[in-house]
Amino acid sequence: MISHGHPKTQGIGMTSQRTRARMVERLRKEGITDETVLAALGTVPRHLFVEEALASRAYDDDALPISYSQTISQPYVIALMIQALRAGGRELGKVLEIGTGCGYQAAVLAQVAAEVYSIERIAPLLAKARANLRGLRLSNLRLKHADGNLGLPEAAPFDSIIVAAAAPQLPKALLQQLAPGGRLILPLGTSEQVLRLVERTRSGFSEATLSAVRFVPMLMGVE
Ligand code: SAH
Repeated sequence: MISHGHPKTQGIGMTSQRTRARMVERLRKEGITDETVLAALGTVPRHLFVEEALASRAYDDDALPISYSQTISQPYVIALMIQALRAGGRELGKVLEIGTGCGYQAAVLAQVAAEVYSIERIAPLLAKARANLRGLRLSNLRLKHADGNLGLPEAAPFDSIIVAAAAPQLPKALLQQLAPGGRLILPLGTSEQVLRLVERTRSGFSEATLSAVRFVPMLMGVE
């Protein structure tokens, strides 16, 4: 859980807490019903993850630019994806996130999962995420500079995998690194994208398609 004693999280005050509560109410109206997910989004100070000039819009339900042509994901889509991974009373267990970006979703995941590994291909962006996350002291979150197409073999298998960039097709390594009964959720497609939920079953994989979405593309290699 987030400790509020650190200098970076001090002085946030009631204003952002109230704004977050309003964001949670909005998510509830939009159909997010998982109270654990709503509580996590109500806890993480999203304004610490966006540029100062955009801080006033941090709690709008929008994707906002970070840097290196990337975006911070929309709260609704983050909530929808985590809710889908948890559906049926399932625990997230050990999670792999592909695409740390500014680190916001990683912080949300760390509230609801036992253990979170998050990887990012752009080194300076990962450094930014580290700086953003430092004050939150999330001891169950580990960040790594790596190409998500390869997953994270040294920490596999994962109970849950969540991808924050759109892949043209299901990355094989991610399917292989899914534990039995594990779930993977990712935006799939190029110009048109849908959220796809994959579960590893005893005999193979079962798949379901959720809503249409818009994510930045999942690229190859690291930089
Ligand atoms: N999780 C972020 C969203 C970041 S946007 C949030 O909380 O808002 C998606 C991120 O995926 C970008 O930072 C991008 O650089 C990263 N990305 C794209 N392809 C990747 C890959 N192959 N491996 C790791 N990260 C990747």
